[in-house]
Amino acid sequence: MSDQIASDQILRFIFDNTAVSGKWVQLERSYTETLGNHHYPPAVQRLLGEFLAAVSLLGATLKFEGTISLQARSTGEIPLIMAEATSNHEIRAIVHGAELSISTDFHTLLANGTLGITIDPVGGQRYQGLVALEGDNLAACLEEYFRRSEQLPTRVWLAADAQRAGGLLLQELPGTSGIERKREQWQHLVTLAQTVQADELLQLPAQTLLHRLFHQEDVRLLRSDALQFQCSCSRQRTESMLVSLGRAEIESIIDEQGEVAVTCEFCLQAYRFDAVAARQLFDGGESRH
Ligand SMILES: [Zn+2]
Repeated sequence: MSDQIASDQILRFIFDNTAVSGKWVQLERSYTETLGNHHYPPAVQRLLGEFLAAVSLLGATLKFEGTISLQARSTGEIPLIMAEATSNHEIRAIVHGAELSISTDFHTLLANGTLGITIDPVGGQRYQGLVALEGDNLAACLEEYFRRSEQLPTRVWLAADAQRAGGLLLQELPGTSGIERKREQWQHLVTLAQTVQADELLQLPAQTLLHRLFHQEDVRLLRSDALQFQCSCSRQRTESMLVSLGRAEIESIIDEQGEVAVTCEFCLQAYRFDAVAARQLFDGGESRH
């Protein structure tokens, strides 16, 4: 028996002799570190946890170096919520403008919402898919996205509380042989998975949950990876961003504030440049390298 796969890990598995694969994720430390010093209302925090679990599941499908992000914009109580995962299993997430949110209802939080899924390969072509947030929860909206884009049947279950977030994803593998039998196997496994409870996603190690749901099936565990909260911000990236704003803009910020201060919205790290340092970004442009 292998070690228990639990918090802050993502696991891929398949069902032997079927054309169905699965992924399981559970976040604890990476989730609380993402929350950090942000003070979100409880329902907003739980939704952020679901976004983080979801993007971790999607990130596990990246077959190249890059980033995948899940972003929802709405006219509801949450104008913007987004979560990101890299192919190195680093995750981060943010909510904007929802400090005063009081609802616990998905459609009030994300009224008239659109969900964007962006895949950004390093040095490659960026791809974005969009789907209206019409389902009853994030999982249902993701299923709708898969239905429209990949046409591989996919089911998703997500859960989050104040400490943990978790998720389970089942997906049919491509291929057309034995379609009738494939359909039956898929239905059978989905029926079993549908009994999963939020508590089980949040509390149980992967092996225990998979045994509980699929004990008569041949589940084969594949790779598992540790996930961690890691912000991709840096002083160097902040410098590039300031340079792209242009000298005039930076001068006007120095005039108003005496310095240039940039706070990363994800991790709240502050990057400060006094007037001399800020001007040097432009003066030293060529000679520094
Ligand atoms: Zn940051």
